[in-house]
Amino acid sequence: MALDRIRTRFAPSPTGYMHVGNLRTALFAYLTAKKNHGDFLLRIEDTDQTRQVEGATEIIYNTLKETHLFWDEGPDIGGPYGPYVQSERKAIYKKYAEELVERGHGYYCFCTPERLEEVNRIKKLSGQPTGYDGHCRNLSKEEVRAKLAAGEPYVIRQKIPQTGETYFDDLVYGRITVENSTLDDQVCLKADGMPTYNFANVIDDHLMLINPVIRGQEYLSSAPKYNLLYQAFGWEIPDYVHCPPVMRDATHKLSKRHGDASYEDLVEMGFLKEAILNYIALLGWSPKSDKEKYTLSELEEIFDPANISKSPAIFDMAKLKSLNGEYIRELSHDEFRDMVIPYIRKTVKSDVDMDILATLLQPRCEMLSDVSEQVDFIDEMPEYSTDLYVNKKMKTTVENSREVLKELLPVLEGIEDWTEDNIKTAVVALIEKLGVKNGVVYYPFRVAVSGKQFTPGGGVELGAAMGKEKTVARVKAAIEKLSQ
Ligand code: GLU
Repeated sequence: MALDRIRTRFAPSPTGYMHVGNLRTALFAYLTAKKNHGDFLLRIEDTDQTRQVEGATEIIYNTLKETHLFWDEGPDIGGPYGPYVQSERKAIYKKYAEELVERGHGYYCFCTPERLEEVNRIKKLSGQPTGYDGHCRNLSKEEVRAKLAAGEPYVIRQKIPQTGETYFDDLVYGRITVENSTLDDQVCLKADGMPTYNFANVIDDHLMLINPVIRGQEYLSSAPKYNLLYQAFGWEIPDYVHCPPVMRDATHKLSKRHGDASYEDLVEMGFLKEAILNYIALLGWSPKSDKEKYTLSELEEIFDPANISKSPAIFDMAKLKSLNGEYIRELSHDEFRDMVIPYIRKTVKSDVDMDILATLLQPRCEMLSDVSEQVDFIDEMPEYSTDLYVNKKMKTTVENSREVLKELLPVLEGIEDWTEDNIKTAVVALIEKLGVKNGVVYYPFRVAVSGKQFTPGGGVELGAAMGKEKTVARVKAAIEKLSQ
């Protein structure tokens, strides 16, 4: 289909969270539009009123804004093809559903839910696929008129041809062909006057001049029915791009219900928005190069939906973490400090020098929430055994650690201006005076202030961050512990 302008849309249902697969679909639709200098639309698909969640639309707006996927038309900013919220388009769907009936491709159905249940129950018992049995397909015009006049509740169904086959071409999955006899006469307009997703998406995509239609692969099997609708109305069929599912592993899709992280969860865990978006772009799409790090504007330049792969994409937390680490290391010191403070504050309530901690943590952090365990000794000294002082590589024993700390204590106490530089100078002087290897002083100092073998930074930096009083008290306590 040739259209002058590429127009794509993201059409989420307001479910209360943005799962990773959804955000990836939004990104692909956005990038396809931007790469072609086209328009990216936001449409809220809220026709399933039973699934409404308070605040859900806000989450969609916020996520797209935070990740800079700004839309050109949408519910909040309007546009020439609005409204962009499906529940505000009821009259439009009703009109087209009635037109479908007039064109001979739709029909009124007055079957009660009880009857439909019974039909499906019997079908199941006899091993047939469930679906509508066509009971109302051939009601006469008079019968329909009489039932409507009597106020009987109805739905409007699509009248699918009972023979022949329908195909469509998908950019990712190729040609998909189905026998019409396997397609259900699906409901287009429900008894409450709301359209089904399957009907509304066709009407809206046509009226909003969407091409190509980019969406999740779960709609692939319904696309033949959509094509029959386009044909029934005499409309041009758009190009389709169905995106492969995002999986937790080879057999399970990512799912919020099963505990997989949504976009908001990832942000909460301390992933940077840019890193999340960068990683998501590579889920099922390949830039055909080894480069892995892309800004949004770079992606806007190079994105090509033809490079979307049809194999399911596996969400790899380790990969996201390492990419995130790269983004973290590129932040300026101040940016990182401001970001990491709330995460440090989850475990550290006491007075500390955040500048020093940020300097220590920035090269050692893949995910902001990682920092918690790296600074968990600051408020309270953890329980530890004196065995920790025994370190072959550092050439330390319980005895020489005790002696070194005894020498270190008055040195620390004597430092008047408690800065990292001054502590360092004093420790270096002590090492020279004692004529020992660096580790013989540095290692016991670290253990004494942290109770740990591995910490971001050593005793000098940690001591500087924690303050003189606490550092001196901890060295004293360590000497006592080592003297028992
Ligand atoms: N509203 C659908 C959903 O949230 C998306 C449909 C589409 O992209 O066409 O799953």
